[in-house]
Amino acid sequence: MNCLFCRIVEKKIPSKKVYEDEHVFAFEDIHPQAPVHILVVPKKHISTILEAKEEDNELIGRMFQTANKLAKDRGVAERGFRLVLNCNRESGQTIYHIHLHLLAGRAMHWPPG
Ligand code: AMP
Ligand code: ZN
Repeated sequence: MNCLFCRIVEKKIPSKKVYEDEHVFAFEDIHPQAPVHILVVPKKHISTILEAKEEDNELIGRMFQTANKLAKDRGVAERGFRLVLNCNRESGQTIYHIHLHLLAGRAMHWPPG
């Protein structure tokens, strides 16, 4: 499948890996928007969150647990962080393999741009 994040998960394309287990892979965003900007992806290809099925609930939960762990590891859990999951065009989704953005290390604005 011609999917950038599947290739990263398979290590056919290099990335700065920060975490990996049987189900989830996390790596540094190539264009960081904050001092901490990590992408957490399921190893299973799911193109948008709209395609996530009931059977994927545990996997989606694992993505959030991984983000929690990485926020603690990076020492930003207490001061705060933002988790973003874009879906389809107007959200700005550019890679059609779901990914949770973990953003931290600076004050975030609200509403987002
Ligand atoms: P989204 O706009 O939510 O689809 O986010 C896609 C993210 O993937 C962007 O923040 C990009 O900077 C990031 N990205 C694109 N290509 C790579 C890559 N090869 N390695 C790491 N991050 C990437
Ligand atoms: Zn994929």
